Amino acid sequence: MTIGDEKNLLAQPLSMICDSQALADNWRNLQKLSGSAVAGAAIKANGYGLGAAHVAQILQKAGAREFLVAYADEAVAIKDIINPAYIAILHGVSANNVEKIRNIGAIPVLNSPEQIALWKQAGGGRCHIMCDTGMNRLGLSADDIGKLDFSGLDIDIVMSHLASADMDCDQNTVQWAQFLEVKQHFDAQRFSLANSAGIMLGSDYHFDVTRPGLALYGGIARPEMADFIKPVVSFAAEILQIRHIRRGDSVGYCGDFVAPHDMRIATLSIGYADGYKRGFSCKGEFTHQGRMLPVLGRVSMDLTSVDISNARDLNVGDIVYCPFDLQKSEQLTGISQYELLTNLGQRYQRIWV
Ligand SMILES: *Cc1c(COP(=O)(O)O)cnc(C)c1O
Repeated sequence: MTIGDEKNLLAQPLSMICDSQALADNWRNLQKLSGSAVAGAAIKANGYGLGAAHVAQILQKAGAREFLVAYADEAVAIKDIINPAYIAILHGVSANNVEKIRNIGAIPVLNSPEQIALWKQAGGGRCHIMCDTGMNRLGLSADDIGKLDFSGLDIDIVMSHLASADMDCDQNTVQWAQFLEVKQHFDAQRFSLANSAGIMLGSDYHFDVTRPGLALYGGIARPEMADFIKPVVSFAAEILQIRHIRRGDSVGYCGDFVAPHDMRIATLSIGYADGYKRGFSCKGEFTHQGRMLPVLGRVSMDLTSVDISNARDLNVGDIVYCPFDLQKSEQLTGISQYELLTNLGQRYQRIWV
């Protein structure tokens, strides 16, 4: 199905249309780009807003084996779909959840001396380890690594995270060199450094496992990825009301849009509570059968107005589409592709095509 072509296919007033084929193809392409390394899949934050269970199912079928979530409960939520032994929990363990993580059999990413001590007290065994190489967020410092005793741990992946892989800057090579240094200290099965953007930095950055997230969902982490990555998400909203406005009339909060001439406008069932951010005010575009429907005035919490002067056939109850081009939306709104995806709300009917 070509998204946007089917008239009134969607009965719901607000739908998120997720393209399974594009998601699977994106993973396969990222796997190819990862060379001899295995491409995992970051499905934290509910699969970057798309729905972790569906995403996991599709990616598993495409061939993905290693999955990453942030919280223990995110692993619990998909444990019937993904064998927990292949789910890495990026936040690691705490006194509150160490037993839970052991019980479900997910693999914690141990980030600090405290987490390593907790895991050992609980019996040790299989784990991943995060090392900091200059981002100063989560992970063992070089000092920690020199001092710690890793006996009793069965370390699968030693990983680090790139702070600036989406840019061309020295920090990438500095982190890469630091990671080689870190590697010397570990007798681990595998090593991993690259996120989506990191995959594009070349085979030196791939090691054994890559960890794409954003690009799976159609995000363009670096400009050269546009050739390999397909869009996955679009929206469909319903026309709730149509009005004719006169030259000089204003639309929406604060009257930010003033009609330069008489217009026919439509009020849509989507707003910033759905993640269609206020940054799209006066800038965003919906479409109907190839025609552009520009957003007029401010996006409200549950409503957005568009110009339908050039689509006179549209009526109340008709469905219009928002292609949600992530790169373009980022440029338009100044909101990162990551935030655009992960802020998508709960009110969508998520439709996988
Ligand atoms: C979220 C995350 C990823 C995925 O990063 P993208 O930039 O979305 O590809 C990889 N590794 C870690 C540690 C993460 O937290």
